[in-house]
Amino acid sequence: MTMTITHLGTGSRGNSTLLETPRVKVLIDQGFSGTQLEKRLARLQLTPHDIDCVFISHHHGDHGGGARIMQTKWETRILANERTALELDLLPEHTTFFEALDMIRVGDDLAILPVPVPHSGSDNVAFVASHAGERAAIITDLGSWTDELVAHVRGCEHISIEANYDHNKLISGPYPYRLKDRISGRGGHLSNDQTGQFLAEVCTEATRTITLTHLSQKNNRPHLAESTVLYYIADVFSGDLRISDQDGPDFSHYIGKADTDEAVETPLHN
Ligand SMILES: [Zn+2]
Ligand SMILES: [Zn+2]
Repeated sequence: MTMTITHLGTGSRGNSTLLETPRVKVLIDQGFSGTQLEKRLARLQLTPHDIDCVFISHHHGDHGGGARIMQTKWETRILANERTALELDLLPEHTTFFEALDMIRVGDDLAILPVPVPHSGSDNVAFVASHAGERAAIITDLGSWTDELVAHVRGCEHISIEANYDHNKLISGPYPYRLKDRISGRGGHLSNDQTGQFLAEVCTEATRTITLTHLSQKNNRPHLAESTVLYYIADVFSGDLRISDQDGPDFSHYIGKADTDEAVETPLHN
C-alpha cells in the first residue's frame, strides 16, 4: 500500500505532479499544454484518460493553464476553489469546488486537504495528501507561511516545496527592481533560505524524503538550493533530498507501507 509522488516537471514554464495509489491517479496542478502532458505521462506508460481527477492550487498559468484543455479533450474532473475555477473559466459540468481545510476523499485510499498559503493576487492552497497512514505535502508559490501551514505539514513523511530563488542571485540579477520586490515580498516566492527555515520548522524524524521544486532558471541553481536548504535542516533530516527540474518526470518518491505482496516479490537470495 504505497503512493508514489512523481513530478512531471516544475518551474515557471509549467507544473504538474502525479500522485498514484493502488486505486487512483491524481494530478496536482496542470500547467502544461495537452501535448506536453501526453508526452510526459507517456514516459510513465500513462495517458490523460488514466487520470481520475486534477487538483489545482491557484490560477496562475504555470499551475492551472492546462486544466480546461483536460476538460474539453478528455472530460477530466478538475477540483479547485471558486476563485481559481472562475479565473480559469473551468467548465461547470467537469468542475468540483473545494473549500480550504475541507478534506476531500478520492476513491477509498486517498484523501487530500487544501491548506491556504499567501501568494500574489491568487487564492492559493498547498495540498496534504494522506494514504495508508502516511502524508505527503505539495507546497508551491508562497511568499511566506502561516502557523496553520506549519501545523498541517509538520511530520509529513514526504514534503515537496518550492525553492524559487537564491537571494544574492536575485538581487544582483537582471530583473527590474519592481519585479525583484514582488518575487521576494510576502506574496511572491520562497528563497532557498526561507525554504530551509520553513523545513527546519516542519521536518521531524518521520520525514524521509524532500523534493525542492519550481527553481527559477535565472535566479537559482540546483547546487545552491540543495546546499542552502541542507544547511538549515542538517540536524533534523537525514533522508533523501532531490531537485525537480522543469523537464520531468525523472524520479519518484513514495509514502505508505510496502504491502506483503511487494515484500514477497523482493528477492532475498540471488
Ligand atoms: Zn503562482
Ligand atoms: Zn508558479
